[in-house]
Amino acid sequence: MDFRLTAEQQQFRDSVLRFSKNELSAGALQRAHDAGYPWDVAKKMAAQGLLGITIAGKDGGQGGTLMDAVLAIEAVASACPRSADVIQAGNFGPIRVLAEYGSASQKQYLKKLLAGEAVIAVGMTEPDAGSAVTDLATKATRDGKGWRVNGSKIFTTHSAYADLILAYVRFGPGVGGIGSVLVESKKIRRGKTSQFMSGEEWAELHFDDVLVPDEMVLLGEGGFKKQIAGFNVERIGNAARSLALGRYAFEQARAWALERKQFGRLLCEFQGLQWKFADMKLELDAAQLLLYRAAANAEHGLPSAEETALAKAYCNRAGFNVANEALQVMGGTGYSQDTLVEYCVRRCRGWMIAGGSIEILKNRIAEAIFERSFSQRG
Ligand SMILES: Cc1cc2nc3c(=O)[nH]c(=O)nc-3n(C[C@H](O)[C@H](O)[C@H](O)COP(=O)(O)OP(=O)(O)OC[C@H]3O[C@@H](n4cnc5c(N)ncnc54)[C@H](O)[C@@H]3O)c2cc1C
Repeated sequence: MDFRLTAEQQQFRDSVLRFSKNELSAGALQRAHDAGYPWDVAKKMAAQGLLGITIAGKDGGQGGTLMDAVLAIEAVASACPRSADVIQAGNFGPIRVLAEYGSASQKQYLKKLLAGEAVIAVGMTEPDAGSAVTDLATKATRDGKGWRVNGSKIFTTHSAYADLILAYVRFGPGVGGIGSVLVESKKIRRGKTSQFMSGEEWAELHFDDVLVPDEMVLLGEGGFKKQIAGFNVERIGNAARSLALGRYAFEQARAWALERKQFGRLLCEFQGLQWKFADMKLELDAAQLLLYRAAANAEHGLPSAEETALAKAYCNRAGFNVANEALQVMGGTGYSQDTLVEYCVRRCRGWMIAGGSIEILKNRIAEAIFERSFSQRG
């Protein structure tokens, strides 16, 4: 077993680091406080070949591995935490599910997405179906050569400006009745808009008798398992960003501790703070090993449910804990919006809920431990 990156991975990471330092470092603070999507970054990344890293060359991607995409998140976030969202959107999210299961005509949408000119969002969560996502009620009813879709989605990342929505819908009863459709957002009514604690905007999405032709059904009845297999990729991106933002905050605090003096001594000379740094590094390195294991073991680019759950739950916790400790070490400066450390805390907090909360992932881990499933229903 070799824990080092291969020469190609090292080279790839170095090139993304160079690009990120040159193109993204300036403006990182401003970007973090903008609610909208950083389209300028998306276009630069498209030109650099950083969108579609894991998507096959025949579909317009780079034909790389999930591990390459994880390295890209880490390198980009080290210069601009907010820009790591663009790597997520262009590699890990619903774009990956579309590339995996889409028909030739559906994959036409990849062109604009990979050019950084459009973004796709995934609508799973509904007012009465959060953790219990299989309770979703958005219904697709047969109508001629298509389906009439009715229902609402909430909390959808990118929903305020996405061009395309991958919506989980119910074609029939039970888990087996769940599938998904692709809908251009101009056919959907956007309701109340809101902001997460991170500052990101989201809008309620209402499907009012939206007609979806058969060609826009991504996965029909019985497609839920496949959909979740694809969603595990999204979870890896979520985990990678948690870890990367935790590491960013850690590096800021490390630099601060090497220059800030109190009581006539550098902060790094106080043992109480040295132990904080040692604990932070323990968490970051352990999280990284779990993340790399899940990404490196991914078969055909799709990671296992168990390794993904372990990696995401641990990275989510580590990212938040480390960012929070880094903020503490930086005192009032860390709490101020003059640095990105408070932003890292806010972002990492959200990923403990999004994409399968830590509790739900622990339920999944327990099922693997006991080799049986546990119904959460009363
Ligand atoms: C930043 C962010 C981005 C998001 N982006 C998207 C997106 O793009 N698309 C999308 O569809 N959704 C998105 N969501 C929604 C997200 O998937 C849900 O918030 C999440 O699944 C939890 O659902 P809920 O908020 O309804 O909480 P609930 O399901 O009501 O849960 C409340 C609390 O109870 C816990 N809990 C629930 N059931 C159990 C159980 N059986 N055992 C133990 N604990 C339990 C949960 O972990 C949570 O802590 C996003 C959320 C956030 C915060």
